[in-house]
This record gives sequence, structure tokens and C-alpha cells, in this order.
Amino acid sequence: MCGAVRYSATTNPANSMVCHCQSCRRVTAAPVVAWLTFARAEFRFTRGTPQVYESSAKVKRQFCGACGSQLTYQHLDTPDFVDVTTCSLDAPWAFPPTHHSWLSDDIGWVKFGDGLPTFERSRFGDPS
Ligand SMILES: [Zn+2]
Repeated sequence: MCGAVRYSATTNPANSMVCHCQSCRRVTAAPVVAWLTFARAEFRFTRGTPQVYESSAKVKRQFCGACGSQLTYQHLDTPDFVDVTTCSLDAPWAFPPTHHSWLSDDIGWVKFGDGLPTFERSRFGDPS
């Protein structure tokens, strides 16, 4: 949001989805969060150093220490990938989601009419 932390990716995302999980909801204080997945080797910070919050034993979330904007999600079991909040991009409209994940945690009062596939957990069955 404030520009103190900037990042860049050198490839298109491998995945684009909307997460309905409780952890994303609480850390952003928003009903759902849109994520892109990039190969870790293709993603880098280009300005500033983000703060890190360990939201569960194997999960690190990075955010801007100046404005609080949530930036990334990294799971220890998938170190080759980094999830990036779609709406922290300069052009979030460029990568619309292809599905919704973690409907098992859904808050219930946001109804999407996008017709996209929904999954009770992760589409890939990986841990939260
Ligand atoms: Zn989530």
C-alpha cells in the first residue's frame, strides 16, 4: 500500500485463487483473500524488508512493517513456492482467480457469483 516494500516476479503465477481459510481471514481481517503462487526462484523483493509473522508452526507470512499490508505466505513443506496477495500487485486485475479454496472455513455471508470451482480444502490437498 505505502510502497516501502516492493517486489517483482519474473514469470506468470502458477496458480491464482481465493482463500476462505480462517488463518487468512484473521491475519487480514477480511472475509477472503486472493492469492497468486510464484516459483520462489522467480520472486524477489526489490525495495525494503518485510516483517515476518509465523501464523502457524510451518507458515510464515510477510507484511509491510510501515503500513501493515499483507504480502506473502510461505509454507515450510513447499519451499520452492511463495504465495503473494493478489491485491498487493500494482495490477491485480491481470491475474483473476481460477478457483476458491478452503470453503470448509468459509464465513458464510459472502456469496460469489463467479461460477468458479470451489474446494473444501486446498485444490492440491496440501496443508493449510
Ligand atoms: Zn488461507
